[in-house]
Amino acid sequence: MNKTIVRFYRGTHGMGICISVTYDKDRIIFDFGAPFTPLTQVYDGEVKPRKKNRVKDAILLKKTPMIEGVFSKKDLQDLDLLSYEDSDLNTAVMICHLHLDHMSEIDKIAPQIPVYIHSDGIKLQKLLYTVNKEKEYRNYTPFEYHVPFHVGQIKITPYYSDHPCPGSSGFLIETPDSRIYYSGDIRFHGTGNERAFEELDTLKEKDIDLLIVDATTTSPSEFIHGDQMDEILRNPSKDLIEGCISEKDIYDEICDSLIDFKGLGVFNQYERDTSMMKQIYDLENRLNRTVVFEPSMAYIFYHFTGIKTPIYWIDSIDIPEYQLKMKEEFEVVSVDEIRNHPEKYLLQNSYNNILSLTDFDGIKGKYFHLFGEPLVKGQKQWKIMENVLEKLNWQFTSFSNLYSFSHAYPNQLAYFIQQIDPKTVVAVHSKNPERLNPVNSTQVFPEENEDYLLSEGKLIKADQ
Ligand SMILES: [Zn+2]
Repeated sequence: MNKTIVRFYRGTHGMGICISVTYDKDRIIFDFGAPFTPLTQVYDGEVKPRKKNRVKDAILLKKTPMIEGVFSKKDLQDLDLLSYEDSDLNTAVMICHLHLDHMSEIDKIAPQIPVYIHSDGIKLQKLLYTVNKEKEYRNYTPFEYHVPFHVGQIKITPYYSDHPCPGSSGFLIETPDSRIYYSGDIRFHGTGNERAFEELDTLKEKDIDLLIVDATTTSPSEFIHGDQMDEILRNPSKDLIEGCISEKDIYDEICDSLIDFKGLGVFNQYERDTSMMKQIYDLENRLNRTVVFEPSMAYIFYHFTGIKTPIYWIDSIDIPEYQLKMKEEFEVVSVDEIRNHPEKYLLQNSYNNILSLTDFDGIKGKYFHLFGEPLVKGQKQWKIMENVLEKLNWQFTSFSNLYSFSHAYPNQLAYFIQQIDPKTVVAVHSKNPERLNPVNSTQVFPEENEDYLLSEGKLIKADQ
């Protein structure tokens, strides 16, 4: 009799994935983020979370997933949910990468429950504490690619996935009776795609029962194309189809735009996507421009690459301790120098430091929004960003298909499924999971918050 139970809490119709796999009394939960709703979220940075009710409020508002046996009694207060202390399950949480839709709620988990993150992800998390982008609430347990770890009778092996966030992983989950693969966020058009295809060569030998796959690009709102293209994109193939951009195409476009431009180049990039930072840094020679970082980004970049990039100063008042130390060790490029020779520089700028760009008023500029914050058009912050750039009279470029960019195109997704050839496939991270091409597998559309028995590769609702 099979005993593997799968439960989908979130993510069968969008972002914010949360799924559990239970075998006897052992349970793993993978990913623990909030759905991404920038236009309606209560926690918008202005509404202050209450310290005492931090966990309870977030569960009530459905920011944090409501799962039994995960939260401390003292945090739940009078909330009618089984606490960690009262649960007899041996639980661990695993995080595939450090984008907020996958991990924003991990700070609420009871401290006794281990939270597994790739060692590079933990490194990033700690750097974010230092640069004040995150608050420290708990410890994490590191894992490495291809090194299995156990949660009771469940064995987990992480695999590399080509995604811009460091330590991005997929998980092979083996219970005594079933094999599941959770892809995490995947793509095959980034600069690490060869390695991702190599991982696939290993995975296709694993005889997977259930594949839980990132199907973001099946959401039409995030990847717009015509009917004809739609048909081509359904066919499994490794290739990048004409009209789909790769990560490299973006760097080429920036280079083309800046190569003969006599003004300043500025880019806004997400601090969690360190592999992209390196790619931009490497444009220096091609562009004959020095890439200059804000101190906080330079700090993160240095800890991942060992490279001390030149920095520029954002403000001269209330400089944090770690930045004061950097002043001695990093080359500081002055505003005057940049003003005098804007054609020699490519400047990194984060949205919250956008006012530092007024130092370059009167100078020609091109601003590239490269997946940094604000993340979505239509957000108030997006309009503010455009407003500032309009006042500077700078050219603004944003790369559309932003979400598709970090996710596999439909044809590559179909190829991935074809290669793994699971018995059953479940699409997550997509608003339109029914648009997935499951190739030869049976696609199942599970209801959320219901137990499913995984038996010989079939996902069967537990009370049937
Ligand atoms: Zn994601």
